[in-house]
Amino acid sequence: MDHDKKKPETLAAQGLGWIDEHTKAVAPPLHASSTFLRDPDNQYRSGRSYARTDNPAFDQPEQLLAALEKGEAAMLFASGMAAATSVFQALRPGDHVVAPTVMYWSFRHWLRDFADRWGLGVDFVDMTDLGAVKGALRPGKTALVWVETPANPLWHIFDIDAIGRLAHGAGARMVVDSTVATPVFTQPLALGADIVMHSATKYLNGHSDLLAGALVTRQKDEAWARIAAVRTQQGGILGSFESWLLLRGMRTLFPRVRAAAANAQYLAEALVKHPRVGQVLYPGLPDSPGHAVAARQMAGGFGAMLSIRVKGGEAAAIATAARVQIWKRATSLGGVESLLEQRASVEGPDTPCPPDLLRLSVGIEDKSDLLADLDQALSS
Ligand SMILES: *Cc1c(COP(=O)(O)O)cnc(C)c1O
Repeated sequence: MDHDKKKPETLAAQGLGWIDEHTKAVAPPLHASSTFLRDPDNQYRSGRSYARTDNPAFDQPEQLLAALEKGEAAMLFASGMAAATSVFQALRPGDHVVAPTVMYWSFRHWLRDFADRWGLGVDFVDMTDLGAVKGALRPGKTALVWVETPANPLWHIFDIDAIGRLAHGAGARMVVDSTVATPVFTQPLALGADIVMHSATKYLNGHSDLLAGALVTRQKDEAWARIAAVRTQQGGILGSFESWLLLRGMRTLFPRVRAAAANAQYLAEALVKHPRVGQVLYPGLPDSPGHAVAARQMAGGFGAMLSIRVKGGEAAAIATAARVQIWKRATSLGGVESLLEQRASVEGPDTPCPPDLLRLSVGIEDKSDLLADLDQALSS
């Protein structure tokens, strides 16, 4: 039975079902070698010479992720940022790119700075407004449209299919940061993306114990080869142990992410009714502005990230965060443990994030424990 016929849950749980040829081990060996033996006639028939180009430790997690995203190939990177920045470093000075105003803030920050020094034209637009996306595209000049959905930290939903049509119509490629949606809920390549990006630090690994990034491509084309060259030459590659840990984390991706998203839906529905909560930002709420598009492009859940706006402003939000006991006050997301943070202070002065906003990364703990802790923290 080939991989195409197996369900993604089966592929993930079994790490593609590989068994080590030599030892029959069910869990993969940890490959630590930086270099590989040449044949006596000076060839490298194994296809490997040095681990900055490619490392056997990447094979299984890359192939599993490519299978889950239904892409032709995947590449691991040292972090989500290393993956995302490589896409832009493979562009040419003078190229034009379009990105959303609401997106992972450190990447927006990097992009603005890098665009300036690299001579890229960049337009940040409200991608919930397709007219704005269309207006920003410069046919023949726009090389790339960057989409992140659901988008940090307001969980705006961008219509991958519609934006992809506009991008392709203008001769641009579309890359989707699908860190929050995960392959469990969204398949951006099937919706028209050329490349999917993940901060594998988050849900793919799921245990808050490594940094990693990944790209998956629909086609192994020239643009993909340029990104691969950036990875090899700049050396932003993942370590062997992290690759091994990432595969281990990915084996439980589906049950983890589904449990966390079910908790998030429960909390969102309960928190809308809370007297100290001004607003709940979560695409799973039927009256959320992104709900209709999310219901179309996310299958089986709306993710496990939500934000709440605390009545009483910034001070009340910070005081609420100070009182949590089960939730942990920390940045990042996608682990099995629930985290929250007052987000605006992380993002700095140019953030679209209101100061009364707490960002919640919902884990897989008992949902009533999570709600009771938030309730006491909001109410004291
Ligand atoms: C964390 C994150 C990144 C950056 O990934 P790192 O692994 O921290 O470098 C990019 N995009 C999103 C949506 C993220 O949550």
